[in-house]
Amino acid sequence: MVECELLSKCGFFKKYSSEKQAACKGFIALYCKGPNMNKCKRKAYRKENGAAPSDDMMPTGSMILN
Ligand code: SF4
Repeated sequence: MVECELLSKCGFFKKYSSEKQAACKGFIALYCKGPNMNKCKRKAYRKENGAAPSDDMMPTGSMILN
């Protein structure tokens, strides 16, 4: 299975991959382990800023409001 190369250090993945929220599962299937991994806004942010975004930023670029 192809996975995002940042999976092991991605705060979003670490924080939300174990949660039962359907939305996060969907994002993980679509981005982290799916066809949109190179469209991930977290990845783009990291490239632009040289640092990871908040763990609560989703692959779409929107924030999860806790
Ligand atoms: S959220 Fe983005 S950077 Fe993080 S593991 Fe998923 S695809 Fe990779």
